Amino acid sequence: MTADPGEGPHVRHELGAYVLDALTADEARTVSRHLRSCDRCAADYVEAAEAVSLLALLREEDLPE
Ligand SMILES: [Zn+2]
Repeated sequence: MTADPGEGPHVRHELGAYVLDALTADEARTVSRHLRSCDRCAADYVEAAEAVSLLALLREEDLPE
């Protein structure tokens, strides 16, 4: 096993961009590695993903055909 990077900086402020797939490959890898070792950020990620899909639904309904 390698050293656990779980004590690194939290990634909360990157989660929005991560959910929207707007991070660089490097950043996305850092975030996904952190999510695997940090329950708190993982929970925030789930919330962000849900918020984004809700927004997507709203936006879809708002579209004038
Ligand atoms: Zn974290």
